[in-house]
Amino acid sequence: MPSEKIKKQANEITMDFINTKLAEKPVKENIKQRALGGKTFSYLEGWYIKQKANEIFGVGNWGVKCVWEQMKHTQFTIGKRQDGSQYARGQYAVPVEITVNLPNKVVVTHADIGVTAYNGETNVETAIKGCVTDGMKRAFSHFGNSFGLSLYSGEEDSIQPLTPSGNAGSKNSTPTPNPNQVAPTCKACGSPMSLRTGKFGQFWGCNGYPNCKTTYQTNEVAKDGSYNPKKQDNDPQQDDSLEQKVNVEDIPF
Ligand SMILES: [Zn+2]
Repeated sequence: MPSEKIKKQANEITMDFINTKLAEKPVKENIKQRALGGKTFSYLEGWYIKQKANEIFGVGNWGVKCVWEQMKHTQFTIGKRQDGSQYARGQYAVPVEITVNLPNKVVVTHADIGVTAYNGETNVETAIKGCVTDGMKRAFSHFGNSFGLSLYSGEEDSIQPLTPSGNAGSKNSTPTPNPNQVAPTCKACGSPMSLRTGKFGQFWGCNGYPNCKTTYQTNEVAKDGSYNPKKQDNDPQQDDSLEQKVNVEDIPF
């Protein structure tokens, strides 16, 4: 099999080339999986996203910017080690913007929020770096399948080619970034929880997994992180009305 040319000359990159590449799904060997909260998650690694962006848009034709002034830190309850000593726990959220210069001179910007929790002060820097990678991956996913959109949203069949104005046709291509969503704390063990995307959509999973397998539905967690369990009610009409009360704009991850 001839090895694929990774670096394309800038003048070889056309809108047709970009649209063709954006429609390609990531090959299976590049999709990583990890288990969390009793479920398995599929994701693409940060280095893969950067390599893909170079290949599709060309080196130097895209950039990443963090909106540091909107970085949000949420302090969780103090953790306790077995020896009785205490450690800080919390979560950082950073809005991340990617900008791509297309060959038709159109500049496309996509933004999303990177979120990472930490346990212990020494992990703060790692968490902030993790936010940037997470936000970059989520922002690029708005371009479509090649950047793992289907892994985030299950919308793999809804992607349209870039329009002349540079907007991808995804229904949710530009969600409103919301750095104010606070992650809930697990009622069972006190650990912070992280928003995860599984086969059936998004949910909050306990960071204490595998010791704790607690999960909350997104519509059970308010913007301030408080947990309001959904009533167990078998009446489908009741369920529908509850679903409609959830403002999807408030849950941008
Ligand atoms: Zn837990």
